[in-house]
Amino acid sequence: MTRAEKILEVLETMYPNANVELAHSNNFELLIAVVLSAQTTDKSVNKVTPALFKKFPTPKVLGAAELLEIEGAIKKIGLYHNKAKNIKQLAIQLCDDHNSIVPNKRKALEALPGVGRKTANVVLSNAFGIPALAVDTHVARVSKRLGLANSEDNVLQIEKKLMRKIPKSYWTKVHHQFIFFGRYHCLARQPKCVGCQLLAICKYENKTIVQ
Ligand code: SF4
Repeated sequence: MTRAEKILEVLETMYPNANVELAHSNNFELLIAVVLSAQTTDKSVNKVTPALFKKFPTPKVLGAAELLEIEGAIKKIGLYHNKAKNIKQLAIQLCDDHNSIVPNKRKALEALPGVGRKTANVVLSNAFGIPALAVDTHVARVSKRLGLANSEDNVLQIEKKLMRKIPKSYWTKVHHQFIFFGRYHCLARQPKCVGCQLLAICKYENKTIVQ
């Protein structure tokens, strides 16, 4: 069994139902939620999006809204000035260039304000079922600790290594399982190494093992 296969096997037992934790009910809401989640937690985003989506339910309404109003709706999350500007402009571009429909092509997604490769990957895989492996802070950390990537690799290098080592049909689910593992088990500061099912193959040097 390869390292990757062992990891997939363990994560499947730990998080068989791992999925997007950003609350959304359509592709537009998912896209906005992912843009808002940059450098903040999904939990914080989920606190502001119900009211945001209620007030600005469509690209047309959001694009026509006053910037101050949008800022007011998301000011509890980090970087809200920039994020408000981005989602307003994003909504305008969706209306102008895509008939108010979230596009299903990477190039079109990445041309939208606030949308980078990671966000495009999340939307492609979760909204359209197109296999993609988004690398966020949890995926990057876990991949390095588990020896699927090197410590000096950047996010694109990590994504490419994961794509080579993990079968395409697993990419979307593995993305969520790595996030769950990083968020709830292999934490950035105090990973739960005692009893970790991946302890034997883990390459992290600062494991939290009580002597
Ligand atoms: Fe993470 Fe610790 Fe498990 Fe390694 S042993 S994968 S650092 S929790």
